[in-house]
Amino acid sequence: MQRAEDAGLLRVRRVLSVDQLGSNQFEFNGKQYINFSSNDYLGLSQSATLIEALIDGAKRYGTGSGASPLVTGYSNAHHQLEHVLCQATGHEAALLFCSGFSANNALMKTLFDKQELVVADKLIHASLIDGLRDSGVNLKRFAHNDLAAASEMICTYQPQAVITESVFSMDGDCAPLNALYHQCQQAQSWLIVDDAHGFAVLEALGSTQATKADATNCDLQVVTFGKALGCQGAAILGTQKVINFLVANARDYIYSTALSPANAYVAHQAVLWCQQSQYAEQLVDVIDYFKLCCQQKQLNLADSITPIQPLIIGELAELEQVANQLREKGLWVGAIRPPTVPKGSARLRITLSLHHSKAQIDHLVESLSQALSSH
Ligand SMILES: *Cc1c(COP(=O)(O)O)cnc(C)c1O
Repeated sequence: MQRAEDAGLLRVRRVLSVDQLGSNQFEFNGKQYINFSSNDYLGLSQSATLIEALIDGAKRYGTGSGASPLVTGYSNAHHQLEHVLCQATGHEAALLFCSGFSANNALMKTLFDKQELVVADKLIHASLIDGLRDSGVNLKRFAHNDLAAASEMICTYQPQAVITESVFSMDGDCAPLNALYHQCQQAQSWLIVDDAHGFAVLEALGSTQATKADATNCDLQVVTFGKALGCQGAAILGTQKVINFLVANARDYIYSTALSPANAYVAHQAVLWCQQSQYAEQLVDVIDYFKLCCQQKQLNLADSITPIQPLIIGELAELEQVANQLREKGLWVGAIRPPTVPKGSARLRITLSLHHSKAQIDHLVESLSQALSSH
């Protein structure tokens, strides 16, 4: 512990004031910032619809579930949310968790054991890695989004499962789900997709370069509610048989208080909002506008069509300088350092939301251009 402190590796938490500032601003140390580092891609966390839903949900169902799901914590609010998620994805059954981390972790350590082997993309999320480690499974990893390398491993090992993400959290790029699923079916391996950043986003992008995850291209899908859906919690989606197995064996599910029914209701309303609103075009416009502005300033963005737009800076010292220069101009952009990303690829992780205005994007790109040219 002391060694980490000495090496400057401790992380600080900043207290941000977000009271009544709307969806993409906050105040810190008396200064206002435009937020380009939130995963609230659709601005739902501050929307009137979801705020009303939380109040309604609490009035109807109460604020706490009062027990774990197998005792008395599983209510009609949860059941109905599972139902709309199944409808939205085509999976047979669903299981709710209080967070995506917990869902991923539980899924990995409950499904697999040390007699088995799984294959995973090099860049899958920490929650999956930790669960796999806990399971003792033999884990083989292929180079990020390298379909040929994945195929070769699938043929060689005939793994129990292949694990990837629909949209990668730090790179914003998408896995070739259809092709991977095809490979998996040939080898009788499951394809498991962490859809934390894809759900409600990929469908809107409707691009040929990216396929949304659903029952037609994966066996198990983990959807989280804390990103585009603007609330909290998560669900594992799959066949009734697998879900039944998890209900009986996933200790994180069995021994933890169920997601609050008010929160289940909010997530339910968020899913309905996504199905009923015409936000796709607006989201694509924001992303396209940002990319166009960057192109005009010759900023070298990574190849991403999603709201996650990384700008690789490389060295840590430069990253810190650029991030600080942006902050001086009232712009908050995530500075992502190793070990979250590979060494030498320290980056700005710019995330866009439906509610970023052209003026805000202009201000960001102009400031980025200045900051980078001064190095
Ligand atoms: C955020 C995230 C999770 C964890 O979800 P939480 O609901 O925030 O716990 C899992 N996987 C990926 C890829 C994520 O980005």
